[in-house]
Amino acid sequence: MAKIAARIRAGGPISIADYMAQCLLDPDHGYYATRDPFGAAGDFITAPEISQLFGEIIGVWLIYTWRQAGRPAPFTLCEMGPGRGTLMADVLRTARIDPDFAAAARPVLIEASARLRTVQSETLGDDARRVRWIDRLDQLDQAPLFLVANEFFDALPVRQFIKTDQGWHERVIGLTDTDALTFLVGPAILPRSQVPQGDDHAPDGTIFEIAPTREAVAAQIAEHLAQHGGLALAIDYGHHQTSVGDTLQAVKDHAFAHPLAEPGLADLTSHVDFAALAASAEKAGAQALPTITQSQFLLQNGIVERAGVLGAEKTPQEQDAIQSAIERLCGDKRDQMGQLFKVLALVGPALPRPIAPFEATG
Ligand code: SAH
Repeated sequence: MAKIAARIRAGGPISIADYMAQCLLDPDHGYYATRDPFGAAGDFITAPEISQLFGEIIGVWLIYTWRQAGRPAPFTLCEMGPGRGTLMADVLRTARIDPDFAAAARPVLIEASARLRTVQSETLGDDARRVRWIDRLDQLDQAPLFLVANEFFDALPVRQFIKTDQGWHERVIGLTDTDALTFLVGPAILPRSQVPQGDDHAPDGTIFEIAPTREAVAAQIAEHLAQHGGLALAIDYGHHQTSVGDTLQAVKDHAFAHPLAEPGLADLTSHVDFAALAASAEKAGAQALPTITQSQFLLQNGIVERAGVLGAEKTPQEQDAIQSAIERLCGDKRDQMGQLFKVLALVGPALPRPIAPFEATG
């Protein structure tokens, strides 16, 4: 993207966060602004695109928690970063099993990309007429909130710091003599106190990431939950504990690419630090339930049983497809989705506990 090089030529090196934001959301050239990256024909496949079971399980869980919250009506049913709109479509279809829930729900989508809003509207069909699209959380109604975000936080920008013999310096992006993008060490320094204890002794060259934007979004959700009640569910590629490591990654055509190689043409994400999100939300007045893995969330919410019902009258080929989708979503090896993806629930203070499957219901 020539715009990025021009910006660096004019104003000097930019942070990783500024680079990520421009690559993903630049209105003319940004990745999400210019394409529909999901699915077999796109660059990557997300859980809702793998199987309708993903959205159905989330839908059933939302009904369960909404009942537990005392069936508030009306309430906002919000998704952040809905991609193709598949998850919301599956949740709204599932919602029909509880007509009171369906009638009380005011569906809202928070989406930055005008192009993807159109795709979402097509996916939702008739339901699109009930949906309101907004840009930011502060446009939500002052009502109880039930919010879902799948692979949203990983797309919000991170800053990186690199350990040198003079402390943790911000990693920035500049230009080489031949005008190619390159990583550089910038002047800004991260105070040692912000690096997890123990990791401050990491070897030179070690990278540490912070995500002020993600934490600000978590705090804003938490403030809403504290004031109006409800709960939020964040599902993402990430880790339970804050730790060092370079997790910035670019993906194109279902393969990893160099993050600086094709700005705007590849997806750009980094792993979510769930401990930092939880801490930020708690400071803002919500409670963060212990983070669990995607496989724990889906299996304990009955995905296998639901798959049995879904497959009952299907052909053997269709049953195989359902089976392999479950393996993909719940695979428990270290490099499989079921383990790599974590689920964080934030709850407003008034919500009765415990909340399964995050807390044992004894
Ligand atoms: N949840 C979907 C898509 C994940 S991709 C799925 O699981 O398939 C990330 C989504 O977040 C895209 O829809 C992208 O356009 C949107 N997005 C990224 N940054 C955003 C921001 N700052 N505000 C609103 N939407 C954003």
